[in-house]
Amino acid sequence: MELKEWQEKILYSQKSAWDRLPREEEPRLMAYCEDYKAFLDAGKTERACVKEAVRLAEQRGWRPYRRGMALEAGDKVYCNNRGKMLMLAVIGKKGLEDGAQITAAHIDSPRLDLKPSPLYEEAELCYLKTHYYGGVRKYQWVTIPLQLRGVVVKKDGETVEVVIGEEKEPKLVINDLLPHLGAEQNKKTLNDGIGGEQLNLLIGSRPMEGEGTERVKTAVMRLLYEKYGFTEEDFISAELEAVPAADVTDIGLDGSMIGAYGHDDRVCAYAALRALFDLEEVPEKTAVCVLADKEEIGSDGVTGMQTAAFDTFMSDLCDSQGAALKTCLERSFCLSADVTAAYDPNFGEVFEKRNSARLNYGIGLCKYTGARGKSGASDASAELVGYVRRLFDEAGAVWQMAELGKVDAGGGGTVAKYMANRNIDTIDAGVPVLSMHAPFETVGKIDCYMTYKAMGAVYRG
Ligand code: MN
Ligand code: MN
Repeated sequence: MELKEWQEKILYSQKSAWDRLPREEEPRLMAYCEDYKAFLDAGKTERACVKEAVRLAEQRGWRPYRRGMALEAGDKVYCNNRGKMLMLAVIGKKGLEDGAQITAAHIDSPRLDLKPSPLYEEAELCYLKTHYYGGVRKYQWVTIPLQLRGVVVKKDGETVEVVIGEEKEPKLVINDLLPHLGAEQNKKTLNDGIGGEQLNLLIGSRPMEGEGTERVKTAVMRLLYEKYGFTEEDFISAELEAVPAADVTDIGLDGSMIGAYGHDDRVCAYAALRALFDLEEVPEKTAVCVLADKEEIGSDGVTGMQTAAFDTFMSDLCDSQGAALKTCLERSFCLSADVTAAYDPNFGEVFEKRNSARLNYGIGLCKYTGARGKSGASDASAELVGYVRRLFDEAGAVWQMAELGKVDAGGGGTVAKYMANRNIDTIDAGVPVLSMHAPFETVGKIDCYMTYKAMGAVYRG
């Protein structure tokens, strides 16, 4: 290579993805982002994400998988695991003995879950007690409008779907101290400024007419009974989540970014799902998309990525072809599609500039995650990184190599290790996010689109 060519190559890789986007692709990028925004608004909880994903899949000819079903190349099936985890597959031209091309993203996001006995009245105000789910910065969840979403299962087994605070409906809120009385609170660390037991949702203030005690609570309970038909005792068998009420919106005068609750990790989940839908040809190898629950609290449980439900699904697919599961897994590839931190100049001190993902520089590829010396990381091999570089480049998916932040600044994990532990070659990649885990996170539109392109490349193999 001539010196000039070297220099041009370096300069090109240092350019924003906006400079590397063929102009004719821009309308597709914008259309894709509009569809993603609609998915986000429809999917504010893991259950809602599964519901919406199933709806979109069925619209496109996907069928629910039933054990023992005969499958042929091109067949599209999905497996809904308890309404909280979804696995989809397009059967490839080659047998499963040749492995599958898998993407795994998660659809649970940090939020405030209700405690089993949440309702109480104090000083004639009615509250719901919460137990936060995932790594939230507690101070960010006060003084913003919140919705309550989820299900209540009554003793007779009836499931009631609850959505409180949609559109023009009243919202819930967690209050904070006024600055005039904040002198002592101001001395606390950010972590302690708002305590877990202070994350109490204000749900009513108007007393029931007549005599008696706890009249505000009684009035709230009556409203819940009238609207949803459940009683206070039914909170015991409920899964209700307080999530931000704000709808998704474009950010910046140029509209180049998207602000919303739950980009982590629905931005990768939608990319993985949509790329599977948009496959134009039957893929060589079977393409599998997993949308998992419980990543934010360690991927445990029946709907988390460690669940045997995934192994069962893969084993069922293998059985339908008489293929050995262990051969299939050792020849499979998995892209653990999860968000990474975007370099934020406002907090530049926690990032190592040369190894941080930047907004608008494409999908962030992470060889490893983890904390304190890669602890808990799956650490993909050099061979695997080489394979993915080639895959993304050939598909025109702009990508960048990234770590989460400075070595000693902290860290994080993904589902990658749980896939790798199954003897599947796995690597992390995902959209860089600003304010990750906040009630309102920001991503770059072009990174969303490049992640979608990257997912398509994974399925095509
Ligand atoms: Mn995540
Ligand atoms: Mn997360």
